[in-house]
Amino acid sequence: MSAKVEPRLPKGMRDLLPETMIRRRYVIDQVREVFEAFGFGPLETPALELTETLLGKYGPDAEKLLYTAQHPQGREQLALRYDLSVPLARVVAMHQDIPRPFKRYHIAPVWRAERPQKGRYREFYQCDVDTVGAPGTLADAEILQVVYEVLTRLGFTAFVIRLNNRKILNGIGLLAGVPAEQLPGLYRAIDKIDRIGPGGVEQELKEQRIPAGAIRRLMALLEIRGESREVLAGLRERLAPYAEATEGIGELEEILRHLEVMDVPLERVRVESAMVRGLEYYTGPIYETVVERPKIGSLTGGGRYDRLIGLFTRRDLPATGTSFGIERIIDVMEELGMFPPGLGRAVTQVLVTVFDGAYLADSLRLARSLRQAGVRAEVFLEPRPLSDQMRYADRCGIPVVAFLGPEEVKADRVKFRHLASGQERTVPRGEAAPQIRGILFPRDVRRVES
Ligand code: AMP
Repeated sequence: MSAKVEPRLPKGMRDLLPETMIRRRYVIDQVREVFEAFGFGPLETPALELTETLLGKYGPDAEKLLYTAQHPQGREQLALRYDLSVPLARVVAMHQDIPRPFKRYHIAPVWRAERPQKGRYREFYQCDVDTVGAPGTLADAEILQVVYEVLTRLGFTAFVIRLNNRKILNGIGLLAGVPAEQLPGLYRAIDKIDRIGPGGVEQELKEQRIPAGAIRRLMALLEIRGESREVLAGLRERLAPYAEATEGIGELEEILRHLEVMDVPLERVRVESAMVRGLEYYTGPIYETVVERPKIGSLTGGGRYDRLIGLFTRRDLPATGTSFGIERIIDVMEELGMFPPGLGRAVTQVLVTVFDGAYLADSLRLARSLRQAGVRAEVFLEPRPLSDQMRYADRCGIPVVAFLGPEEVKADRVKFRHLASGQERTVPRGEAAPQIRGILFPRDVRRVES
């Protein structure tokens, strides 16, 4: 016999036990419902892709994090997917006949061989929603409306959608007038303005040996802050000589107009010319969502990427979309106690106890009728004393226990106990389901009664 192996997990990977899964699934269900309400359809793709599909898409640093997945006789070079965008681009390139705009969402695990730390895993879920084949700003605005709806439905209130445009960033580069090789450093520095303030940015730019005149022009531009439309008017004035920047400003003005008609409160949206994301990747509007409390960085991030799909076909196809940092959203909701109190720890709503073998059929019948009435019911499977059965319900977090002993059966009744309150009720068997529902969802009952 082979030696026993100590059970361990690979680094940066997790088991998600039922109690955790119930909370995760709640979040994912809410998100999915909003996506589908806007007409985004589900997409699944294999966890493994041909390595050639993934290479050359993420840049050399990210490529080091790809997991390869060969089997011993394998001829195909395979790797685990690193994100959900490249599989989307492959799908669109392979299915040119899909009706466009193609609106899809994809909630699935991805793998990255990163150094694991708090909130950073090697296997984690991504949650993407994208529109392919719609070049206009209405598609971008719709993605922002989805972001607003999802976060609002999950109970977030103090969040801000930060909005910028790759084309404005190009204009800022031109305004600075520095050589191309200084641009990445310059963008990195201005992106830190929220953390280190204008003084800190100025200092960094000096350290990067950006000429004094360029720093002055940049700082004057970054001073334009406030209400989104005023910011855009200010940027329009200062970036007037740069046609591409003017085009980008026009796009953001259009997005704001769409959002207004979509009833997305504009105080949740902030145009920030210093916000930088994925310089290699995004081609138009870029957006991310931050919460004021707790300080954890962005909850969502995305933008328009009109060139990704062109990596698989000869023709570029416009695309825009966002990724929800679902792991982070779940962590924040946990930290702020944002899950509905009724969500509970178990899927079972009622444990139907078994008095003894003679009453097993009664218990099984009761459980079946509860299930038929839409109550999730579990029968205790072993002949054990009632106290053990109660302890099991308590340990699992099952909220209600049902008893069918000789007295109850004789009277054609059922006794329930709500474990949290200790409240007990004996009711006719036919009324079991509505009674339990009343205990589990007291507010619903009031609504029905009123
Ligand atoms: P990216 O594809 O790197 O832009 O990331 C998309 C989303 O996935 C972001 O919301 C990140 O917060 C999240 N994310 C990236 N890497 C990890 C990780 N190692 N563990 C958990 N979430 C991650």
